[in-house]
Amino acid sequence: MILTKNKEMICENLNRNADGELCFAGMPLSPLAEKYGTPLYLYDEARVRHNCRTYLSAVREGFGEAARVMYASKAASFKRLYEIINEEGLGVDVVSCGEIYTAKLAGFPLENAYFHSNNKTDADVEFAIKNGVGYFVVDNAEELFAIDEIAKEYGIKQKIMLRITPGIDPHTYAAVATGKVDSKFGSAIETGQAKAITSLALTFENIELCGFHCHVGSQIFDADVYLATSKVMLGFVADMERELGFITKDLDIGGGLGVRYIADQPALDIKATILIVAEEMKKDAERLGIALPRISLEPGRSIVADAGLTLYTVGTVKRIPGYKSYVSVDGGMTDNPRFALYGSPYTILPVFGEIGDDAEICSVVGRCCESGDILQENVPMPTDIARGDLLACLTTGAYHYSMASNYNRIPRPPVVMLNDGDSYLAVKRETIEDIIKLDI
Ligand SMILES: *Cc1c(COP(=O)(O)O)cnc(C)c1O
Repeated sequence: MILTKNKEMICENLNRNADGELCFAGMPLSPLAEKYGTPLYLYDEARVRHNCRTYLSAVREGFGEAARVMYASKAASFKRLYEIINEEGLGVDVVSCGEIYTAKLAGFPLENAYFHSNNKTDADVEFAIKNGVGYFVVDNAEELFAIDEIAKEYGIKQKIMLRITPGIDPHTYAAVATGKVDSKFGSAIETGQAKAITSLALTFENIELCGFHCHVGSQIFDADVYLATSKVMLGFVADMERELGFITKDLDIGGGLGVRYIADQPALDIKATILIVAEEMKKDAERLGIALPRISLEPGRSIVADAGLTLYTVGTVKRIPGYKSYVSVDGGMTDNPRFALYGSPYTILPVFGEIGDDAEICSVVGRCCESGDILQENVPMPTDIARGDLLACLTTGAYHYSMASNYNRIPRPPVVMLNDGDSYLAVKRETIEDIIKLDI
């Protein structure tokens, strides 16, 4: 059982003001609830920019000026965010036509995009080539044939990297572990498939193989995972040079750095982690007698998670004597499916009100017709929590808006950006008319 205490402000952009009201990005939350309604996704623009700058300066210091940071935009994808990411000098990972289209409409230069996905349809490949996506991160051989054919039609030579599975178990939730040999993603070094797809990729006329990519998992707090991964990947780079004469220009070592959802988790030092990995990779490259390729990292969660907060209004409070208490909010698994999917921990705090030693331990639940519609269990709440009170769920910037659904035909909340004491809409609140729009 994980308990978080009221007083513990797990991120730097949270505080309580003199009236005891919870503030985010320096702004008290109740006026925002009044202006925009709840449930409400809030983003702290300065925090997004700060996280981008932390990454970019660290990779440049560790790996040199050419190193890249690609924001994995599946973590949160909407036009305003692509604009901010572009202004900060990051590239993006995209995984679908929808993400490519959103980035394009935001004016994002698509030559700075990597196109992922383990199953790109021919239509996806064509859409990406037509729109000038810089690199494909190719998962499998069928994809190579599709890219070659469509690139030929468009008269281009498409740059690609190959997704390689280094066989590292990141000791994290199995559901988000992707670097193991039996993963649905990429080609494994261990089975010889990685070498086979490399030599195949070198045979296509309309494809330029630039290098390799890997991503071993998510919510990783331990630099050792990256040390082990990069060692395996550099060994592979050296092998391909020796065995196939292929010189790797680009090496992407993935994303996955952990963020702090609850007080018991550490706040990871991103810069220190990157510098440790960079030092070791430089030594490894020297030892292997190869030039260190241009390195890219592709964080998603750790760029946006702590820049987000979701605001809810309490509805029904149900106490079942001798069993448990439920606090229902006006959102739920439709705006945050992560507890239902992975049992993810969260910190949920009342916007007003102290949680004393007599705190009531509650389950905070949503309003869907589904018993699994839970935001968090064992949450301490003020004993007088009641209908109309505001609750804040912290660290909701990643995989919330982007994973939101219309289950039960519930409209998705708006996205509001906070900047320098001001707020502005980035995504409007969905209406029930929006939901019915496609019904014939
Ligand atoms: C999801 C994903 C990322 C980002 O992972 P985070 O845990 O959000 O940093 C990076 N690369 C690939 C290929 C991914 O699928």
